[in-house]
Amino acid sequence: MTETDDTVRMEELTWQAFEDRIDDGPVFVPIGSTEQHGPHLPLSVDTVIAIEIAERTAHEAGGMVAPPLHYGYTSQPGSGGGPEFVATTSVHGDTLRRQVGNIVADLARDGVREFVIVNGHFENEYAIREAIDRHLENGLDDRFVIASWWDLLSASTRGPIFENVPGGFPGWEAEHAGVVETSLMLYLRPDLVDEDAIVDDGSSRNPPYVLKPAPEDTIPDSGVFYKATHATAETGERVLMEVVEVLANAIEDEWGT
Ligand code: ZN
Ligand code: MN
Repeated sequence: MTETDDTVRMEELTWQAFEDRIDDGPVFVPIGSTEQHGPHLPLSVDTVIAIEIAERTAHEAGGMVAPPLHYGYTSQPGSGGGPEFVATTSVHGDTLRRQVGNIVADLARDGVREFVIVNGHFENEYAIREAIDRHLENGLDDRFVIASWWDLLSASTRGPIFENVPGGFPGWEAEHAGVVETSLMLYLRPDLVDEDAIVDDGSSRNPPYVLKPAPEDTIPDSGVFYKATHATAETGERVLMEVVEVLANAIEDEWGT
């Protein structure tokens, strides 16, 4: 038993150890962003959450976790505040699409046939799908689960979380740096949460269309889009446990591994 036998992180393995484990399960690819998350959370929220879900699911369902992508598709004003926030650092959709496509193609060349893309950043979703669509145009029999973590949360878990929040559930787009992301970080990385800085905020208007350039009153000054004061570590734990369970079950149900 060597020390690396327990790790699911590809980057901590030798190339031989990676090769030995290729047939043992899927390769997870966590994809996040470097994006403002209000005055109380670090820029890495979307990446931290994607990594944690990927690693915990790999421990449960088998497989290895490829090094994460820390940059995501350009932050949008209505779902992350947009590029006007200092420190938010993004790549274009075609850059992300090529990067994901390149990584998947190289792993597939090594013999990886099953991939789980764990997405933590709202704006990434269609660039990831396009990368996989293009990969599969080559007539390969590789298989993919593409999961944005918030989609895995059931209505029965989500309901009670927002029950006592005035205004209820605002939709995932508007939950940026709000109740659930803050809760997940309080559970996963309390050392990175400035609890004294947690605020409830939101833009003063939310038009049902996209305005560019985005007027100031459509973006909250703090970068918090919802009522982050309702976040708790217990909520974070409940969300994480369900998301990991649903993802592990998906791998079992879809691929029987
Ligand atoms: Zn986020
Ligand atoms: Mn994001």
